[in-house]
Formats: sequence, structure tokens, C-alpha cells
Amino acid sequence: MNLARVLHPFTGFLTSAVACVLMASAPAVRGQGLPASQPSIWATKPDVTAFEKMENERLAAAQRAIDQIVAAKGGRTIENTLVPFDEATRQLNATIEFSSFMQQVHPDATFRDRATAMTTKASAAATALSLNREVYQALSSLDVSKSDPATRYYVQRQLLEFRLAGVDKDDATRAHLRELNDKLTNEQSAFDRNISDDQRSIAVDSARDLEGLPQDYIDSHKPGADGKIRITTDYPDALPVFTFAKNESVRKQLWVAFGNRAYPKNRDVLLEMMRARQEIATILGYSSWADYNAADKMIGNGQNIANFIRQVNEAARPLAQREFAMLLAEKNKTSPGAKEIFDFENYYLRELVQRSGYNFDSTSVRPYFAYDRVKQGILDTAQKLFGLTFNQEVGAPAWAPDVETWDVSENGKMIGRFYLDMHPRPNKFSHAQMSPLLEGIRGKQLPEAALVCNFAAPTATDPGLMDYGDVVTFFHEFGHLVHQILSGKQQWSGVSGISMEADFGEAPSQMLEEWMRSPQVLATFARHYKTGETIPAELVARMNRASAFGRASWVSAQDSYSAISYEIYSRKPQDVDLDAVTDGATRQYTLLTPLPGTHMFASFGHLGGYSSAYYTYLWDKVIAEDFVSQFDATNLLAPGPAARYRRIVLEPGGSQSANDLVKNFLGRAQNTSAFQKWMGEEFEGKQSGN
Ligand SMILES: [Zn+2]
Repeated sequence: MNLARVLHPFTGFLTSAVACVLMASAPAVRGQGLPASQPSIWATKPDVTAFEKMENERLAAAQRAIDQIVAAKGGRTIENTLVPFDEATRQLNATIEFSSFMQQVHPDATFRDRATAMTTKASAAATALSLNREVYQALSSLDVSKSDPATRYYVQRQLLEFRLAGVDKDDATRAHLRELNDKLTNEQSAFDRNISDDQRSIAVDSARDLEGLPQDYIDSHKPGADGKIRITTDYPDALPVFTFAKNESVRKQLWVAFGNRAYPKNRDVLLEMMRARQEIATILGYSSWADYNAADKMIGNGQNIANFIRQVNEAARPLAQREFAMLLAEKNKTSPGAKEIFDFENYYLRELVQRSGYNFDSTSVRPYFAYDRVKQGILDTAQKLFGLTFNQEVGAPAWAPDVETWDVSENGKMIGRFYLDMHPRPNKFSHAQMSPLLEGIRGKQLPEAALVCNFAAPTATDPGLMDYGDVVTFFHEFGHLVHQILSGKQQWSGVSGISMEADFGEAPSQMLEEWMRSPQVLATFARHYKTGETIPAELVARMNRASAFGRASWVSAQDSYSAISYEIYSRKPQDVDLDAVTDGATRQYTLLTPLPGTHMFASFGHLGGYSSAYYTYLWDKVIAEDFVSQFDATNLLAPGPAARYRRIVLEPGGSQSANDLVKNFLGRAQNTSAFQKWMGEEFEGKQSGN
């Protein structure tokens, strides 16, 4: 049972760096506040003891609800079964969401440690519920034939989750499944920790080896006591080297260090995870983990994953070949006669092509994206698009002093609350994500969610200029937040919030990324931080054209990661040679030659949590582009299509299958036409633009 639904950003395994500042302009209007029945827990400034008390009370309430189901006499009714089941779900969700969030963001180490322990405790309670046979039997004998569609869908879906957990197996088997799941949880943490702990570095002789890198990068990398300059494998250190360093041998050495993180440790951990997962799948009657893991998702089964990967490859290949030819022509300027491109050369050559072929330097747009302006622009865009009003609760307390509290209302009525935790802080979660904190329940509980990002904070002397990619990331994550709030008017907690199918969650946010490419939308907020000049439409057009170059290669790389993720979890673990699978997939899908001596699977973090479901990113990208095609590209802020989208796709949340949401909006199942058009835009752009 997947009770905690925290969304992680769309980063892929190694995609290009994305990066984001504002003039303080806190709105003067105060929000109207939460209803008396739902006071902000921060108003009391809870310490760790109060936190634990609240969480333990929630767990106790969940247990009371479960006891109530088991104790019910007579026939099963919605009232004596589904109502308490949903109450248990609501309490467990709230406990896990809040404690796992505190462990990521609370400034105090003791608080974080106790929150981690609380997450473990609450997760164990959730697992126990997923294997509780009495509750399963109660729910399965419930007659919902006369209930509304959302209730019927909810029950059917919960019964599937129960069966996938193994609730109908005998006691010994269920005990064994619990052991396997606990083992898997530990191995997954070890896999992630091995990656984050293994920072590697290379040493270069002098600043001359960093030629081509931006001056601020060179300035911040001074020689150490031994006279050498140290470059680490951390993303902010490594990506600029892969993209800009003229010295090929520096790029190559760093790539080898990068591609050996967590190796060989994670080879063994991965093999253990593969064995545990294969065993779970076999016990539950599936031929592979990929099949089992797909059973409660849009894609349905493993064969469909394989088909999807092949279909994407067929769509991307002709375009990727055209891009490859351009990259190779660039390489041939300095290496005449070269016929192949190594994986480590990809970023560097791509940047060269963007500069020489598209006349675009990515640093030229930063002055238009000061953090405060971007924030206001993103809030305004979302308010306009979805007909909402955001009011800041100025000075409201939260977990850290710089966290902002915002109320969401519609037609003067409050419908939810969100928190913005936007800037780095020691020991804070270091990527970008939306964290749901409470699921909305009609008439009972308003939805709450938090956005956690790490954009440089503006100061009196620094406007906090953002890279364009960070602006896109900001709106992407904000899209998850809006989804969580707008889907929070369900009757049941269990279907409130973002879709139950884990392979749909990214589509709405990926769709909104397109809004940040629209000259019309950008013109509403992107102004030069010194002159106040609106970003020129010509610059936006040039930026869009340049950033469209490389899409097919990007898709091919994502497809190769999807294939790796699928292949190692669709075969018997003893038949899988990890190096052969990863090298093979790179060659088959990307047209690039893998540099020998690297073992990327060891640092491919998604192989832990996502396991066989890495295809999700491309699957949702296909849906997202199909969604975009329903809007008027020249007027993305038009209210009609956005209102329809909100009503059909966002508001139902998890009360309908994601396949139905998509079909209801498109009038058909999704297809790859719009996606294909998006991939090929660079070539069309060139024709019409030149
Ligand atoms: Zn996302």
C-alpha cells in the first residue's frame, strides 16, 4: 500500500543542469486563515515532544478506526467499514507525510532524527494494515454496487493494493513477505546512501585546465596547498566541466570518476534488491518484478513497458540521427575523420552546437530572472490560469524563519494552504519537490502542501538571478502543488490528492513547463533586473530554438535509462550482467559510445526506489505534450481550456483511473504525435526561422 506520496523532481539520471531571484513584494492582503477545526500546527511552535505527541495521537486514532472495522457486528456497510477504513488511511497518511517531511526540512538535528524514527514507526503501521486480513475481508464483502463511481473505484483500487501486498496469503507467507519488504527498505536506503556518501574528485594542475568554464566557476576553484585544483563529482561541480571544459582529458577523467560512484558497493546491493523483488513477485504470482510493479499503474504490465520503450525509440531515432550528424560535424572541426561520439562528449558538443548553430548563450537570459520577480510571476500565472487567489499569511510561524505561508481561495472561500520553503539551509533536503502534508476532504479537512526548493536567496546586494532551467523547475514543482490543492475536494481521503497511479503524477507538471516557454507568459514577469526592460520576444524565440536542439538525444538517453530499469527487473537476477545491460542499452538507444571503465548502474539512484518504473518520465512526457496540444499555443492564458483541464484532469485526483482522466480530456487515449512534433521542433524552427 502506497500511503506516502511524495513527488520527486524530474531530474532523470544525468540531465543538463537546471537553475532561479525577486524584489521583496509581499502582498499586503492577509489570508483569512484556516477554519477553527483545522488550526495551523505551527501557531503553537511545537517542539519535538509536541510533534511526537501529535503523531502518536494520529497513529492511535488510526488503530482505533481499524479496531472499529474488526469489531463491527452484522453486515458490512459503508458506515461500519469504509468510513473507519478511510479514517485510518487519513491518519496514517497525515502521520507519514508530516514526519517524512520534517526529517527532510527541520533545522534541528534531534527533531530530524526523531522524525525519522516516527516515519519508520508509521510506515510499519501502514504495512501492517496492508497485510491485515480481517480488514481486507471486511472491505471485500462490502457491497458498493449502488454507491457513486468514486466510492466504487476507491474500494476496487484498495482491494487490488491489498492483494498486491499479499494479504490473501497464509500466515507464514505473509510473515515472509514482511521480512522481504523490510529487507528491501534497508537495501534501498543503503543504495541511496552509498551514492550520496561517495563523493569522488579529480585534481587538475592549474586554472589552464579549466579553460572554457565560466569565470565565477574558475574563481571559486582555487588551488589547494599542493597547488592542484580539486573538482568533485557533485552536480554543481561536475556538470559545468562536462559542458564547458575545453580540455578533453579533464572531462574524461571526471566522467570516469562520476561513472564509478558507489561502485562496487552498489553492485552487490542492487543484486540483493533484484533477488528480493523477484522473490516477492514470484510469491504473488507474477513472472517478474516489472510485471508485478506495473500491475497498479497506468501501463498495466511489463510487456507494455517494453512496447513503450520500443515505440519511443522508433519515434526518436530519425531525429536523434540528425542531431548526431550535427554533433559529429562539430566534433570533426577539431577531430577530422572521427566517426563516433563518446557519452562524455555529449554535453560539450551540444553546447558548441547551440552557440555556433543557434547563436544562443544560456547566460544571456539570467538578468531577466531575478528570484522575487519570478516568484511573483509564477504565482500570478497560476492564479490567472486556474482562477485562484493566493494571500500570504505574513509573519505566520512555520518550521524555519524564511518559510512563507500562503492561503488559497476561490470566490472568497478558502480551499487550501501551501508553504514555500525556497532557499538553501544547512541540512535541508537539497533538491526540489512538492510534499503533500494533508489530503483535502470535502467538508472536513482542507488540503495542505509544501514546496521545497534550493534557489539562491536574493539579498540587499544580490538580486538572486536564476538560470532559465530553474525557472522551469519552479513552475513544474508549483504545478504539483496546485494539483494537490485542486484535487482536495473528495469525499474520501484515500482518493484525494494526486492520482493513485504512480506513473501519472508527472504529466500535469511536465505540461506546465511549456508555459515558461511562451513569450506571452514570460513577458508578464521577466524584466531586466537593472533596466526593467521586458524580455525581448526575439530573445525568447532564440532561446526556445536553441533549447529545442538536443531533444531527440535527450529522449534517447531517457529511453536507454528506461530500458536499463526495465531489463534488470524483468529477467531472473542470475541471468543479468549489469555492465552488459547498461553498455548495451547505451549503444542501442543513444547512438553514443560508452566510455570503458564506468559502471553507471551503481549510481543510478532510481534503480532503488523507482525500480522498473523509470519509463514514467517519458510516459508522462508523451501525455503532457498531448495535453498541451489541446491549448491555444498563442494564448496559453486563455481561461476556457484551463478551466476544462482543471475540472477534468486535476480536480478528480485519485477518484478515477488516470487512463480515464486522460481519455476524458483528450476524447481518446494519448498518442505520440504531439510528443513527436515537440521532439522535431528544432528542425521546423530552423526552417521557419532562417
Ligand atoms: Zn515533478
